[in-house]
Amino acid sequence: MVINKTDVDHQPIIDGSLEINNCDTYNYLGSIFSQSSKFNTSIKAQCHAELTHAVKFKSSIRKNSDLPFAVEMKMIKTTQKKCLKKLAQEREGMVNDSFMHALSRYDGTPCGQYVTTIGTYNPGEEKRILHNRIHRSERTKYRTYVKINPDLTLHAMNTDRAVKEHERIAVVKSHNLAMKKGRWTRRPREERLCQCGEIQDEIHIISRCTMTRK
Ligand SMILES: [Zn+2]
Repeated sequence: MVINKTDVDHQPIIDGSLEINNCDTYNYLGSIFSQSSKFNTSIKAQCHAELTHAVKFKSSIRKNSDLPFAVEMKMIKTTQKKCLKKLAQEREGMVNDSFMHALSRYDGTPCGQYVTTIGTYNPGEEKRILHNRIHRSERTKYRTYVKINPDLTLHAMNTDRAVKEHERIAVVKSHNLAMKKGRWTRRPREERLCQCGEIQDEIHIISRCTMTRK
């Protein structure tokens, strides 16, 4: 494979009985590079190569769409752990590989802590890290949640294996309250108002809003 080539570069290299032919793509530790040097060509080749895994994943999701959340989480963590282990094994001893470089520099970052918990898969440790992060956070969403649930106890719908996933999703939905939307647009906190005139955050909607308590 030759990038920025001329026609003559496409010719095979022949040394006695050995013949090395030109190729359009090269797979380096699972990442495909193309000799066109175009990013979208590499992405297309990568997608084509991963199609089997994508079909398998889609089939698994469809087949198990009603699995309880706790079981789904365990499946996801196990898969992530296997994937990271495989990536690290393939690159063992490589000092110039970008993935190994990233792995060696992640200590102390939220991503690094997450990767550590996957590596050991210790649900207790993962829970402790999550609790620390939420209690220390200044984000409105977390501050409000800690007021409602200071011990961060998981609701049974997230742990009970009898609760189907579609039932859990029906009651655990993302919202677009003014407090959250205002953060995106950098609107001052006191201007993130409900139609009733008060600041619209989760506590307001749950306990005070005249629009939802008629
Ligand atoms: Zn209101």
